[in-house]
Amino acid sequence: MVQLAIDAGVCIGAGQCEMVEPESFIVDDHTVIARLVGPSELPKSRAEHVVERCPSGAISIVRNA
Ligand code: SF4
Repeated sequence: MVQLAIDAGVCIGAGQCEMVEPESFIVDDHTVIARLVGPSELPKSRAEHVVERCPSGAISIVRNA
């Protein structure tokens, strides 16, 4: 498992993260910025996939959980 983080200043609200991992990401209705909810740790392969899907590069793997 690895820990994820979102750089809110980089997120463009595209929602790919929410589509790929809906239990971990939500795009706020008001700010249109993604935030982590529930488990912010994912298996490494799934974490790498969601990082790749983010068009703005806002998601990063910060450490092994
Ligand atoms: S995929 Fe990236 S840019 Fe899109 S909402 Fe998620 S963190 Fe933001």
